[in-house]
Amino acid sequence: MVDGIVAVVRAMVLYAVGAPFELEERPVPRPAPDEALIKVRACGAGLTVHHAKVGTSPATLPVIMGHEIAGEIVALGSAVQGLEIGDRVTPHFYLFCGRCRYCLTMREPLCENTGGYIGRQRDGGYAEYVALPARNLIKIPAELPYDAHPEQVAVICDAIATPYKVTRRARIRPLEDVLVIGAAGGVGIHMVQLARFFQARVLAADRGEAKLDAAKSAGAHETIDALVGPIDAQARKLTDGRGADVVVDFVASPETLQAGLAALAPGGRLAILSVHRDSRFNVDPLWMLNGEREVIGSRYVTRQEIVDALELVRRGHIRPIVTRIFALEEAEQAHELLGQGATIGRAALVMDSET
Ligand SMILES: [Zn+2]
Repeated sequence: MVDGIVAVVRAMVLYAVGAPFELEERPVPRPAPDEALIKVRACGAGLTVHHAKVGTSPATLPVIMGHEIAGEIVALGSAVQGLEIGDRVTPHFYLFCGRCRYCLTMREPLCENTGGYIGRQRDGGYAEYVALPARNLIKIPAELPYDAHPEQVAVICDAIATPYKVTRRARIRPLEDVLVIGAAGGVGIHMVQLARFFQARVLAADRGEAKLDAAKSAGAHETIDALVGPIDAQARKLTDGRGADVVVDFVASPETLQAGLAALAPGGRLAILSVHRDSRFNVDPLWMLNGEREVIGSRYVTRQEIVDALELVRRGHIRPIVTRIFALEEAEQAHELLGQGATIGRAALVMDSET
């Protein structure tokens, strides 16, 4: 029991892979000395969470999922410094150690002593309160619309920070042709905005008119309907046969990876973010060498990239696109839509502000 806070909180708990979430009342989590207790205001619901729910990514069950959190600190462990009760915060998704060679050089996703992920190996944000390590927490700038649109603020730490990092990993430069595969998805739609922000020409690939219209509204210059024909052939047609300078594949099936590679211009870079378990594809080393092509893995973000992503939104350069909002107890409905690939942009859960 933490002083001044309700004793019991509602949470959506996953007990088995593929099972529905169960609404439960639980004691308020008690923060460890290096942790903060956060009252959750909103939590993003995306494919990263969904993969863990259906077993594509491992999770330690039972668990409360959700890592794209916007919330307010209501209690602090005894050893926490630099944070105050009342601070509005958003977390880094990975349970990094903060001490290894990668953490000390701002490469938290490569941590040598990783404890896993928020919402998989420890409880996350599909709950009214969550306790998280203080080192994961980043303050939300006061100018962001936390009160009016907490769902927009919540998704920045992944859905905007992740494609922001890709602009750096894949070295997106002005005037380049950037092909985004899965351009209407929760992260893809923000990749479209970011590539445009970096003055690239954006070719958005997705399936069907509604998704391509959304990508166009987000700033895509050209669209490619994967239902119509091969993505690589369409991309070459739109680039006078040269191909794309950067391909970012958010679908990462064997087919899209192969098409993305085939669409690379000389000097081109293929960025891989998520993969299905057996997403292998063929690479011709001579073609790679002769064209100086690159395949790049880009794994989540650093804490600084979350700070930068918050700033990009604060300055109005990037607009969080959350198209579906659900109450906490509606998490299962959100994931039904995610499983069908039926969401455009991000979905999010917003907590009852009276709780
Ligand atoms: Zn580490």
